[in-house]
Amino acid sequence: MQKAYKYRAYPSKEQEQAMLSLLNTHRHLYNEALSQRKHFYESEKRTVTYKEQSAQLTQDRKVNPYLAGANFSSCQRTLRRLDRAMQAFFRRIKAGENAHRAPGYPRFRGYGRFDSVEFTIGDGAKLTKDCKARFMGVGDVKIKMHRPILGDLKTARFKKEANGWYVVVSSVLPDFDGEPSENPSVGIDLGLKSFFVDSNGDEVKPPKLYRKAQKKLKRLQRAVARKKRGGSNRRKAVKHLAKFSQHVKNQRGDFHHKTALDLVKKFGKIAHEDLNVKSMIRSLNLAKSCHDAGWSGFIAILSHKAESAGVEVVAVNPRHTTQTCSNCGCLPVVSLTLRDRLYNCLHCGFSLDRDFNAAINIKNKAFPCQENTRSLVASPTARTEPLGVNQEDCLMDFPRSPRL
Ligand SMILES: [Zn+2]
Repeated sequence: MQKAYKYRAYPSKEQEQAMLSLLNTHRHLYNEALSQRKHFYESEKRTVTYKEQSAQLTQDRKVNPYLAGANFSSCQRTLRRLDRAMQAFFRRIKAGENAHRAPGYPRFRGYGRFDSVEFTIGDGAKLTKDCKARFMGVGDVKIKMHRPILGDLKTARFKKEANGWYVVVSSVLPDFDGEPSENPSVGIDLGLKSFFVDSNGDEVKPPKLYRKAQKKLKRLQRAVARKKRGGSNRRKAVKHLAKFSQHVKNQRGDFHHKTALDLVKKFGKIAHEDLNVKSMIRSLNLAKSCHDAGWSGFIAILSHKAESAGVEVVAVNPRHTTQTCSNCGCLPVVSLTLRDRLYNCLHCGFSLDRDFNAAINIKNKAFPCQENTRSLVASPTARTEPLGVNQEDCLMDFPRSPRL
């Protein structure tokens, strides 16, 4: 499995100039390649492949001094990057994602919109013994190696962020081959009010700073919008906004890493809702779908951490997970709305917090054959006949949870 290590970098003035110039060369290469793809797609309805573009690169290097001076395999990596962006674009079209707007075509990158150049370790880049990252055409860049790198080094990339330079090194570690974790299983229901509620009723709140940060972000965005285009005040405001956005992004990433690590330490099997299906269900609800980005980032981190700890992560179809009674497996006659914070089952008299109920359903859906339904409230009074609910109908498409 692959692992990435990110280190703060401290280039000298000359090195910074060389890095900026390389970013520009690669940005031009990316734009040229994108324009070629666009041209052939529009005129001949044909997809230009990575292979063709790589062959073209060899030709272009003979006439373009910037490309000739740049490392060949790092240029290939930029072309690959475009290839991935194109594939992701076609995948989005196919999946019908963003039903409320057309999937975005990969964009041309303006100045300052191309932030990293990747190298193959051993071909234009290496890490020196004295904690420096050597890049072809740049030199030995000082980095703050706050933790050691494990595994086989594969790539190194320098990256410009709002608050400075970074070097990201990727390595490949052997796959986990220990025993699968014996810890209990859990279901988590990702939400807005709580970041998630798990099937034991434990709640993880979204970070406190989130709301405050959103307000400040909005204010900084307004400040940019008010400044005159092309003016130096606008440039300053943009810089300010970029710095703060980066800060918020770092905070969120930090929270995701810590939360995921907690889960992986405590549980052996983790079930969550399949976010692709989830976002498709409510692709029309803009207010919500903007949170999906945060969730999928979290799930990606969680899956990654789980992989190296022998923990299983399962995505389940979110259909009916909110509406079903986790005690008797019944669907309500009248669907719950977002306002109903409490789940009340008319059939068996069960009552529970809605997210807690959903988390149990998610867990039962993912790991159905275990004795995993917990009786959570004092056992409901003797079950009566369904209140005008046809049980056969209720259970459609949802496996009945085992009773205790
Ligand atoms: Zn019930």
